[in-house]
Amino acid sequence: LLSIENVSKRFGQNEVIHNLSLQVKQGEFVSILGPSGSGKSTIFNLIGGLLSPDEGTIRLQNEKINGKRGSVSYMPQTPSLLPWRTILQNVILGQELQGETNRERAQEMIQKAGLGDYIHSYPHELSGGMKQRVAFIRALLSPQPIILLDEPFSALDELTRLDMQKWLLDIWETHRPTILFVTHNIEEALFLSDRIFVLANRPAHVISELTVPFSRPRNEELLLEDRFLE
Ligand code: ATP
Ligand code: MG
Repeated sequence: LLSIENVSKRFGQNEVIHNLSLQVKQGEFVSILGPSGSGKSTIFNLIGGLLSPDEGTIRLQNEKINGKRGSVSYMPQTPSLLPWRTILQNVILGQELQGETNRERAQEMIQKAGLGDYIHSYPHELSGGMKQRVAFIRALLSPQPIILLDEPFSALDELTRLDMQKWLLDIWETHRPTILFVTHNIEEALFLSDRIFVLANRPAHVISELTVPFSRPRNEELLLEDRFLE
């Protein structure tokens, strides 16, 4: 579905991405793991078309999308909500941009994220973690074939994060969207993904691949059981 072929990206003298290649198949849940500053968000900006690669090609469904915006659903690391629009309007914005609006589903998702009381509030009335959940729902509801989530749960407390992780897995298992997920949290990556790409640290930002060593658990009990059964 998505193919990154020999992509490099420099900012001035600083080569952040060096000859990166990776492929993502339809319906996969892939995590990108790496230390702060290793280039994770830069990869997403390249796939999202906010940046163009200096070398190499990015293809979506065999079409070259170098520097082309709007072909994927992208939740950036810093959520950007429109301040003059309500939470509901912000959530359906992603759908509207793609000409496909489903208000009921948006309302349902807002409830499910624990934001039912804020559906007609404005972004400035919400906490950082709440805004993050709004951007998360917006990304999930956009109809593009791939969803990019850049540290979507970083501002959440442990319990809410666990809730959101389980919810995301549930959605993934039911609808099988293709998901690219950035985190520095290896446990989160192991819990959620089929495959994990690890970005090496400076200077050579090459990538290695980790296979998830056990089948994905559905809850904490299974997590323990699976480990013992190995
Ligand atoms: P974090 O985990 O902290 O979010 P990251 O892996 O997402 O880190 P990036 O944001 O991709 O890291 O940044 C990688 C490197 O690229 C950093 O050295 C950063 O300074 C540099 N960089 C990113 N964007 C730009 C830009 N627009 N202009 C110049 N340098 C940039
Ligand atoms: Mg980042």
